[in-house]
Amino acid sequence: RAKTTLGDGAIVFNSSFLTDLHRTEEGEKALADAMRRGQIRPHYQPLIDLSDGHVIGCEALARWERDDGSFVPPGEFIPLAESMGVIDGLSFDLLRQACRDVISWDAPIFLSFNLSAVQFEDPSLALKILAILNETGVAPTRLELEITESVFVHNEATTLAVIDQLRQLGIRIALDDFGTGYSSLSRLANLSIDRVKIDHSFVGRCLDDARSMSVVKAIVSLSRTLGLSVTAEGIETQPQYARLKKIGCNVGQGFLFGKALPAADFHRLLQDASARPLLASRRA
Ligand code: C2E
Ligand code: MG
Ligand code: MG
Ligand code: MG
Repeated sequence: RAKTTLGDGAIVFNSSFLTDLHRTEEGEKALADAMRRGQIRPHYQPLIDLSDGHVIGCEALARWERDDGSFVPPGEFIPLAESMGVIDGLSFDLLRQACRDVISWDAPIFLSFNLSAVQFEDPSLALKILAILNETGVAPTRLELEITESVFVHNEATTLAVIDQLRQLGIRIALDDFGTGYSSLSRLANLSIDRVKIDHSFVGRCLDDARSMSVVKAIVSLSRTLGLSVTAEGIETQPQYARLKKIGCNVGQGFLFGKALPAADFHRLLQDASARPLLASRRA
């Protein structure tokens, strides 16, 4: 079993150290310490208008940078923050930071931000988010909130009311990782959302596997009929880009266009991309 030393600056990073420490006092201390020291920050992945290759937005993805320079992925510490009951504090710190970054870039792009399902049980969620937007000067119409279908599983009145309040403020709602979990196409018609994000597992297989392509086409076609925008997640190759554009996806995201970058690097990417579309500059 890998040895992990915490808290003395000489950390031996083990990528699954939280798996061992999950719900232990040591793991919780490490996370609380990282939050206090501002070691958890948003990185930004570009969102591309597939019609012309321009960057039109970014998704904030949380990263925990440890003292040794290694990064702990959000899949490891977000569930821990949820089980510790500190996800709200962490999430609002990240949103505040992301809003400040977006304002500092001075570019006409929107911010997409992930929220945990449990946050939608708070009837004052919309007010808390509005306060952060007002404090940082970001217009509500520039913010999109990503939620997964699990938010809707119990169809709680509070959750549905919170989503309506957010949308009335002009904040958009995107349904993340669509196609996994308990998705059903018919359900899309009843949800109060603005965008569907097709999960990368379908996008990654769509050119090799006819069934995955059928799923993607069905999601795109129904979404467009319902007036929803569609983002394809996990575009990694030029042929995937060409095909998804052709079948009518509006927006693309994936390693072909860029991975999540720290704020300063993303700012440079924006400056380069404003001269030429991201893909054209990559090909040159
Ligand atoms: P997500 O919201 O579906 O984010 C997309 C994930 O796919 C990111 O993983 C991203 O790095 C990865 N990705 C992007 N393009 C590609 C690609 O072309 N190929 C492949 N294989 N992967 C790609 P990441 O950053 O590890 O985030 C994992 C999940 O953690 C996110 O999935 C999101 O659900 C959650 N998360 C991230 N930040 C936050 C946050 O601030 N709050 C909450 N509640 N959850 C967050
Ligand atoms: Mg997301
Ligand atoms: Mg996703
Ligand atoms: Mg995902």
